[in-house]
Amino acid sequence: MTKKVMKITDPWTGLMQCAVCGAEHHGHMKPGSDGKYYPQAWRCHNGCSLDPAE
Ligand SMILES: [Zn+2]
Repeated sequence: MTKKVMKITDPWTGLMQCAVCGAEHHGHMKPGSDGKYYPQAWRCHNGCSLDPAE
């Protein structure tokens, strides 16, 4: 199970921030569905993961 590494910091603009490295980007909403983001929007561009490294 994959946790979402990105957290919404500004719901109005869709701005998200990575909980690991702090990188920010704007998530792109799916057209026609309120409040739904594309799955890739929930991944950090740097490939961060909330799963603990072993
Ligand atoms: Zn990150």
